[in-house]
Amino acid sequence: MKFGTKAIHAGQEPDPTTGAVMTPIYQTSTYWQKSPGDNKGYEYSRGTNPTRKALEDCLAALENAKHGLAFSSGLGATDAVMKLLLPGDEVITGDDLYGGSYRMFTKIFANFGIKFHFLDLSKPENILPYLNDKTKLIWIETPTNPTMKIIDIAEVAKIAKAKNVLLCVDNTFASPYLQNPIDLGADIVMHSATKYLGGHSDVVMGALMMNDDELYKRLWFIYNATGATPGPQDSFLVLRGIKTLHLRMKAHCENGRQIAAYLKSHPKVDKIYWPGFEDHPNHDIAKKQMRDFGGMISFTIKGATLEDTYKLAGSFKVFTLAESLGGVESLINHPVSMTHGSIPKELREKAGVVDSLLRLSVGVEDVEDLLDDLKQALG
Ligand SMILES: *Cc1c(COP(=O)(O)O)cnc(C)c1O
Repeated sequence: MKFGTKAIHAGQEPDPTTGAVMTPIYQTSTYWQKSPGDNKGYEYSRGTNPTRKALEDCLAALENAKHGLAFSSGLGATDAVMKLLLPGDEVITGDDLYGGSYRMFTKIFANFGIKFHFLDLSKPENILPYLNDKTKLIWIETPTNPTMKIIDIAEVAKIAKAKNVLLCVDNTFASPYLQNPIDLGADIVMHSATKYLGGHSDVVMGALMMNDDELYKRLWFIYNATGATPGPQDSFLVLRGIKTLHLRMKAHCENGRQIAAYLKSHPKVDKIYWPGFEDHPNHDIAKKQMRDFGGMISFTIKGATLEDTYKLAGSFKVFTLAESLGGVESLINHPVSMTHGSIPKELREKAGVVDSLLRLSVGVEDVEDLLDDLKQALG
């Protein structure tokens, strides 16, 4: 099946008891057992729920994976992957990660004796000097947030496989419509389903997808044993959101293309980060591993102080100043004071996250209105 058909149908059959075409919201915590242990495959909703199961099968199909697991947030999903590790293990990861992932790694898991190396992974060979017998996981995000570096997933997967190290890719920014890391050799794909998968900024959820049965069993054990699993109402919302993922992504990409071109020609714009530009340093890799370039764009303003940038960020009328991304509505974000506040200034600036940087999540409104809004705000 092709992508759009999977988005609408995967994991979803008419409900066997009533024939309902849309998956019902099974708002139940527990299930009847005929005699102890004799049940219909469901015992307690922390571990399994039919609405969540339909979503998980759909999520797996979108990433060409065998198994899917839904979590109550993207960070809940990340936390479960980290719990595969033991004290003394080492992790190699990127130097411009999602702020919440960085915070979890350094403030939670570092306390449990896990060591993290934060590297510029746009050059995969940077991994080599840090690989040793203790390396158990490589965790990457591509495109990176917010400077849109592209990491060559197939290259990193080759390095990981040669040393028997797990590779997990946070695929939130690309969405499964643009990029499928498992096809490129990753072991686990992670999503904040809060973003493009949900697509309407009305639910917080996370997901993991994987092929390996043993890995699935270990992750399902952690999921059930630690309990960060989502309820049926939220599972329904994401299942519903996914039905238009392919349509939304086409519109995000098309609007993104026009807005990136406009910003590039604007005299007040200094740096602009969008992987679709031919002069983007990793454009060739983006072209190789992504189907299009998405609607996430970051840019800096020439000579702007922190105050100037605050003022500009507050002067939009269609773009909403808010954290998050991937919804139908366009958002503008100031990474330094919003999403990336938990990353130390020195590390942040090294990765290009400077005071005058703004990040757009281009929505699916009429692009003329978005362009007008940028024009008036920058004017
Ligand atoms: C939002 C986000 C997360 C965290 O997901 P939540 O659903 O907010 O917990 C992780 N990675 C990336 C790239 C994100 O954008």
